[in-house]
Amino acid sequence: MFHKTRKKLSFLYATLYFLLFSLFVIVLYFSLVKLMENQQINELEDFYAKQEHDFFEHVYANTKTLNYNPNRNFFYYIYTKDHQFVHGDESYKGLKKQVEKVFDNSNPCEELLKHYEWQEEHFLLLKKPILNNDMVVGYIIVGKSVTSQHHFFQNAKYLLILLTCISTVLIGLLSYYMAGKAMIPIQWSFDKQKKFVSDASHELRTPLSIFYSSLEILEVEEAKQLSSFGKELIADLKDEAEIMKELIEKLLFLARHDQQQASIHKEIIPLSTLLNKVSSKFQKIMPPDIQFSTEIQENIELLGDASKMQELLYILLDNAIRYTNSGKITLTLLKNQGFVKITVADSGIGMTEQELPLVFERFYRSDSARQRNGTGLGLAIAKAIVEQHDGKIYATSKVGKGTTFHIEIPI
Ligand code: ATP
Ligand code: MG
Repeated sequence: MFHKTRKKLSFLYATLYFLLFSLFVIVLYFSLVKLMENQQINELEDFYAKQEHDFFEHVYANTKTLNYNPNRNFFYYIYTKDHQFVHGDESYKGLKKQVEKVFDNSNPCEELLKHYEWQEEHFLLLKKPILNNDMVVGYIIVGKSVTSQHHFFQNAKYLLILLTCISTVLIGLLSYYMAGKAMIPIQWSFDKQKKFVSDASHELRTPLSIFYSSLEILEVEEAKQLSSFGKELIADLKDEAEIMKELIEKLLFLARHDQQQASIHKEIIPLSTLLNKVSSKFQKIMPPDIQFSTEIQENIELLGDASKMQELLYILLDNAIRYTNSGKITLTLLKNQGFVKITVADSGIGMTEQELPLVFERFYRSDSARQRNGTGLGLAIAKAIVEQHDGKIYATSKVGKGTTFHIEIPI
C-alpha cells in the first residue's frame, strides 16, 4: 500500500514539475525567438531607410543593375510599383528569382515580412513600399541571412528538450526518495496500530474463552438454581461472547494478513468438488423464500488453500442470504483462459455505485445493512483470501435489483 502511494506521489511530482518546467521553457524559448526577430527586423528597417533614396536615383537614371557581392550581410531589390526591377545588390547568386517568387502578385502598397529557406540558408525578408508625396511609387525588398541564428535556436530547442527530460527523471527519482522519507513515520504508526490490533486480539482470546466456558459451566451446574430470567441472561451472554469471539478471530486473521504472516497452505484442490460440497451445505440452510441454484463447470482444479477457499465462499454466500429477503442466489464456477472465475449473484437489496468500492474496507457496513447482524469484516477477509491466491475480487450491483461478486484467480 505504501509502496503504491510512494510511486503515485513521485509520479505526480514529476508530472507537475514537467508541466511547469515545460511551460517555463516554452515561454523562454519563444520570448528569445521573438526578441531576436525584432532586433533583426529593426536592422532591416534601418537598412531599408538607407536604400530608399536609391530608388529615385536609379529610376531617374533608368538603369537596371544587379550587383553581386558575397561578403555583404544584407541584400535588397528595388522595384517600381508595376513590379519592374530597377536596382539591387545581392550576396547570393540567383536569390532574386526566388525572392520574386515569394512575393509574387503581392500588392506594392503592402508591407510584408517573410521567412524563407533556400539552399540550406534561412532568410528574413522585408518588403516595404516607397512613397513620394504620399503616393506609392515602388517598393523595396530587403533581406538578410539568419542561418546562424536559425541554427542556434534549433540547437537550443534540442538542448532545452533534453534538459527538461533529464531534469524530470532526476526530479522523479528525488521525489521517490523524499516520498520514501516522508512515509517512514506514517508507516511506523501504521505498523504500530496493526501490531496493537493484533496483540489486543491475541490477548483477548484467552479471557474470552474462559468467560465463555465459565458461562457454559454455570449453565449446566447451576441449571436448577437458575430462574428462567437467569437462564435467558446466560444465553444472551453466550451469544454476545460468540460474536466477540468471531470478531477477534476475524481481526487476528486480518492482522496476520497485514504482517504477511498468514499461513497459507497451497495444494492442488478440486475446486468444482469443493463448490458442490459448499452449495449442498447452503442448500440446506437456504431460507424458503430464496431459490438457490448453481452452474458449476466440472473438473476444475486450482492451486490454493482449500479451507480458505471454503471460507471465501461462506462469506459471499452468507452475504447473499443476509442481503436478500426473497428471490434467487446463483453460484457459478467456470474456467477461462488462464484463470478460474467464481461468481455469487443475488437478487437482493443491492448497493449504490458509491458504496461498491467501500464494501471491502474494514468495518464498512451500509446503512441498510446495519439493521442486520454483522461485523463489517467479511468482505475485507474475502479480499485478503483472494489476494493470497493472487486473484482479484470486485462487485457489480444495482439498488433493489441485486449484487454479483466476481472472483478471478489465475491458475
Ligand atoms: P460480517 O463481517 O459479519 O460479514 P457484513 O456482512 O456487514 O458483516 P461484509 O460481509 O464485509 O460485512 O459486507 C460489508 C457490507 O457490504 C455489508 O454491510 C453490506 O452493506 C454490503 N454487502 C455485502 N454483500 C452484499 C450483498 N450481497 N448485497 C448487498 N449488500 C452487500
Ligand atoms: Mg458479510
